[in-house]
Amino acid sequence: MRSDIAADVNIDFGDAHDWLSPTRAWRLTECAASVGPVVNKPITSVGSAPNAGTVAHRAVQLWIDAAGYRNGNPQSRLSEAINEALAEFSGRPTGEWPPTRARLLARASQLAERLLWGDDVHAERELLDPIRRLRGTPDIVLMKPREAVVIDLKTPTSKDDSLQPWIIFQLTIYAHLVEQVHGILPAQVEVFRLNRGFLPLSMNSTSVEAALETVERAREADASVATPAPATCRYCRRRLDCQAHWDAAVCWPDTDCVEGTIERVERAANGIAAVFLASSLGSRWVSGVPGDLVTADVGERIRLVRLRRSDSNDDSAFKWSRRSALAVLPLAIPV
Ligand code: SF4
Repeated sequence: MRSDIAADVNIDFGDAHDWLSPTRAWRLTECAASVGPVVNKPITSVGSAPNAGTVAHRAVQLWIDAAGYRNGNPQSRLSEAINEALAEFSGRPTGEWPPTRARLLARASQLAERLLWGDDVHAERELLDPIRRLRGTPDIVLMKPREAVVIDLKTPTSKDDSLQPWIIFQLTIYAHLVEQVHGILPAQVEVFRLNRGFLPLSMNSTSVEAALETVERAREADASVATPAPATCRYCRRRLDCQAHWDAAVCWPDTDCVEGTIERVERAANGIAAVFLASSLGSRWVSGVPGDLVTADVGERIRLVRLRRSDSNDDSAFKWSRRSALAVLPLAIPV
């Protein structure tokens, strides 16, 4: 399938007092510069096929909205919801769709049993805190008159029962938003992993207050100070512009980005291109790039982010992924 060029021409002058999602709020607490202006134009490939997680989330939402979990055969209703979700998207889902679908169906009864606890079950409803300018859309909120539970659906494979700090932070902000909108602080948030089931996490007002104070302090921090780290920078909107990130990333052992001067471009008959770059760490191949995205010529400098390691024996080579982006230098660099 042909990839469309999506040159994001939006100039984002967001600042720390903009509305923050839990993800952006977490990134702000890790790097005050992450809410600075985006002045570059990332070029990405946007195929029409959704990823497996997107389809799974949409199917669960449709299943809940249709009260399929209350049916005597919740798995069958979920299977119908999956088909409905697939019909909304064009193209076969990318990523691990067959195992994702199989795990989702296998856990239908377990999830249905949990959802039946709630008198009201909300799926994918946006919640706002206009005072703190926080917004978020939890996957599932279960409500009783005096109790609430937030459920976060995770489709990637979990190897153990640990939760990364950013997930705990995200769930804490969701708990706060539920309290703001519904007047009940969830005593428990739960991560529902398709490969391992539920993982509960206790919540209380102290942990929520601590998270909110962290966000407020981060909003007041000096936004000219960038603190790069692989997990923080990976999806930062400023990544292609941020010189602090590029200075740091050359030292990251498993970096997913490269900057260099184009020495050669090889184009295959199927429209895919490979780019040979001279970078500060030596020569690097980046293969699998949709050819219509490679508009720069030999001698121009480009930056590429969110690359995968190549399957070849050359461990310095990279491969384009559906999440990758590139930019042609020179860049306006605000940091
Ligand atoms: S790319 Fe990294 S260091 Fe730069 S602003 Fe974003 S999070 Fe901060």
